[in-house]
This record gives sequence, C-alpha cells and structure tokens, in this order.
Amino acid sequence: MAHLLLKDVNKVYPNGFHAVHDFNLEIMDGEFICLVGSSGCGKSTTLRMIAGLEEISSGEFYIDGVLANQMSSRDRGIAMVFQSYALYPHLTVYENLAFGLMLEGIDADVIEEKVQATAKILGLTDYLERFPRQLSGGQCQRVAVGRALIRKVNVFLMDEPLSNLDAKQRVTMRSEIKQIHRGVGATTIYVTHDQTEAMTMSDRIVVMKLGVVQQVGTPFELYFYPRNLFVAGFIGEPPMNFLNGKVQGGRLVFDGEEGKTIDISHIANDVAALEGKEVVFAFRPEAVNLVKDGKEPEEGYTFTSKVELTELLGDNTNVYATVDGVNVILKINPHDTPERGSECVFNIPFKSAYLYDKETELAVETDIVRH
Ligand code: ADP
Repeated sequence: MAHLLLKDVNKVYPNGFHAVHDFNLEIMDGEFICLVGSSGCGKSTTLRMIAGLEEISSGEFYIDGVLANQMSSRDRGIAMVFQSYALYPHLTVYENLAFGLMLEGIDADVIEEKVQATAKILGLTDYLERFPRQLSGGQCQRVAVGRALIRKVNVFLMDEPLSNLDAKQRVTMRSEIKQIHRGVGATTIYVTHDQTEAMTMSDRIVVMKLGVVQQVGTPFELYFYPRNLFVAGFIGEPPMNFLNGKVQGGRLVFDGEEGKTIDISHIANDVAALEGKEVVFAFRPEAVNLVKDGKEPEEGYTFTSKVELTELLGDNTNVYATVDGVNVILKINPHDTPERGSECVFNIPFKSAYLYDKETELAVETDIVRH
C-alpha cells in the first residue's frame, strides 16, 4: 500500500498549454479515489504524472514521504490499467497474465502460483486456456486488471477502464473492481468522466474542470454539499435544477415574468450580505414533493410548474416542466405522474434547497443540515 501526496502540481505541455493547475491532494493508504470531470479537464494528465509517464512541470509528488518527481516509472510501484485493454491476441489468458513476470525472469512455478491466485480473484480460472477473441468485453477487461494485479504494486491507476464495455457489463465490472480493491487493498486512483461510476466506487472523489480541482470529498459530501455551481450541476443524474434571481429587500426575486419572491433566511445565514446580488436557487429533481389537493406544506418553498413531458421509468417518473419559462426536471412517484400540459405544484423542503452566488459561483453560507 502507499500514501501519496501531490503539492501544487502543475502541468504545462511543451506547446504552452497549462493542463493542470496547482493540484493538491493527499491520498491515504488503501484509498479509492476517482478523478472525475468532462473530457479535457486534465484527469489523464494528472494520472500520467503520478504514473511517471508525464513530467511534472512544477510542484511536488511524494510516495510514502519520498519525493518522486524524478523517480522512474518502474520504481514507483505503480500499475496502470488503460481504456483499451491491449491484450496480446495470440497469447492465452494464462500467457497474458504471465507475460510480465516471464520478462522479469521469475521462476515458472512462482508464475504458476501467481497466475492461479490472480485468476481466482478475478473469476478467470476456467478461462485460462482461452484466447482474448474467445472472451467477452468484461472478461477481457478482467484480464487487463489481472495483468496489473499480478505484479506486486502499491498503487493502481485506472484510466477509464470500463468505457469500452456496454452498460450492463460496466455495472458488473464496477462492483467487481470494488471487490478486488477491498480484497487487495492497494491505493487506487481511477479516472472517469462518468459521475455515476465515481459516486458508486469512490472513497473520495476529485471533481476537476479546466485543469482546476473544484471539490474533493466523499460521494455523500459532493452530492449533498456541492461547494460551487459546477459540482452542483455535474454530480447527480438527472442534474440539479437552477432558477436565477436577485436578492432585493431581503427576499429572492426570481427572474421570471411573474416575479415570484421567497424568503431566503431559511437557507442563507447572512441575507443582508446578499442584498442586490444575483443568485441561483437550486434543488435536486428527487427533492421535490408534489402538492396534492392544494395542501401546501408549511415548511419549504412551493412552486407551480407546467408539465411539458413525462418519462415513466418504472421506479419513478421524470417530469420535464417549466417554472415561469425555465426548464426543470422533477423526479416523482410514478403513481403521481401528471398529465402533459397540466399544472403541477411542488414543494422543496428547506433542507433540500441550495443558493449560489452567481458571480463567484460559490455556495452561499448556510447552517442547514442536509440529511
Ligand atoms: P482528460 O483526461 O480529462 O480528458 P487530458 O488530461 O487528457 O484530459 O487533457 C487535458 C488537456 O490537455 C486537454 O485540453 C488536452 O487537449 C491537453 N493535452 C493533452 N495532452 C497534450 C499534449 N501532449 N500537448 C498539449 N496539450 C495536451
């Protein structure tokens, strides 16, 4: 296992492009960390710097307290699994697993032992004599993981390892990788653009945008306490809803034509400090409660929306509606699915309402406990 520390790490490519800005992160022994963000935000660059495949332009990278900036890739005790599994097509699963060890000149009986042990962990024992073309995508991916696993390493790096698999295989492999991690216990850094993958697998998630870390936290923290508008919109599916407005006379006045206003003292510690500011009121699709029979709850904010489209998904219905012309998505009980074109009144409890400063994009300070 290994403890990793990145201090003010930057990457400026030779063409002058600044791909990673002041990346700071301490990764504990055995932690499972996901780097998540849209394509091009610097996830792979960060991972490649950790692997020693890309030079660190400035800043420091430590492995177990030892400065590793100049350490060769081989000496870092790191194994990497890439998006393309790159198995040798003319070698069997056994030979693919054994290949690296054979190159290192390890005794055949030790190799045999290691291959069998690794195959057992990955459920590949019955497939050792097969060739890659005789395997499913998920099985190929397991062999690729196995090749990394078979070497004694302290750190696993995975760059979008599931993106070549279909949706069902991805879900299966997600839990398999988690199980392997639990069994092996190696510190793991996993890159993905898929927030669901990050949410389901990580101990902690690092959200990146344009080379800058936006927030680091547990899946729970990122979901319930997104610190800025980007994280709020990135984590969660369907995404968070945003309604724009301005604080006037101590109340939030929404931008829509109706000029609906609400008392934000429940969700902002210092309302006076917000006076005159443009803000974004936010809530998650599943946080809403439908108001039936006009019985408006005393607590929370109530809105009227026009239903544009409904999607019955079985366990819930996604309602695409508009609040004063602004699109929102509501996730409700399928038995309450409203008619298209009808009006739907919904309530957001105070603990599920968020407020962001539009200029800084940061969450407005509040003492609300969200769980
Ligand atoms: P991600 O993994 O999040 O998709 P990358 O780390 O691959 O993002 O890339 C981050 C940014 O750096 C992108 O804008 C990409 O175009 C740029 N980039 C990647 N490799 C190079 C390179 N060798 N030279 C210049 N720019 C690069």
